[in-house]
Amino acid sequence: MKKLAVAIDGPAGAGKSTVAQLAAQRLGYTYIDTGAMYRAVAWKALQQGKPVTDELIEEVVKDINVELEYKEGKTFVYVDERDVTGEIRTPEVTGIVSQVAALGQVREKLVDLQRQMGEKGAVIMDGRDIATNVLPKADVKIFLTASIEERAARRYKEMKSKGYDVDIDQLKKEIAARDKADSEREISPLVQADDAELLDTSDMSIDEVVEEILKRCR
Ligand code: C5P
Repeated sequence: MKKLAVAIDGPAGAGKSTVAQLAAQRLGYTYIDTGAMYRAVAWKALQQGKPVTDELIEEVVKDINVELEYKEGKTFVYVDERDVTGEIRTPEVTGIVSQVAALGQVREKLVDLQRQMGEKGAVIMDGRDIATNVLPKADVKIFLTASIEERAARRYKEMKSKGYDVDIDQLKKEIAARDKADSEREISPLVQADDAELLDTSDMSIDEVVEEILKRCR
């Protein structure tokens, strides 16, 4: 069977990584979480202990080594060989990641890496600009979304389960702000590709969404 490249884009909290990982497992494909790579750069910028300016981020990205390892259905993220898988999901990282992802120097470096990882096929890659920019020739392109209420509710559950004390209205505001920043930036903004299929998951279970993705891969 042909080894497909599958692109899944969409706004924050749409459940992209959850369903992409499950679909990758079912297909025996590699899952590539591109958001984790932007988070890795944001994490390193915060580690510098200085105000996070664009100049600081550009300095940090120059010699950062970001690696993803996908094993046993889980993605591990390494920055300069240190495992930062858990640390890139903190509210502090989430708070600055859109600023990081708007910078040309950051995108250039990470998109290069993403293309290298995607070129052999048999991959599911999720992010914001996969279908439009990273893998424009992907065999399957899906734009995954859900209502802001549903996305905030999902993120709330996730953060609670990790022990964070979060407020759902605050989460909703943060998600909306991140979507706005990601959609309005100049370079590779978040947008549905012309040839991507829209999948609104507001009223769908995880299994149903995975099935829809697999159906398009058959
Ligand atoms: O997917 P996740 O929410 O972890 O992504 C974090 C951030 O990384 C997004 O809000 C966006 O700013 C950036 N991103 C991006 N392009 C991608 C993936 C993520 O700009 N392909």
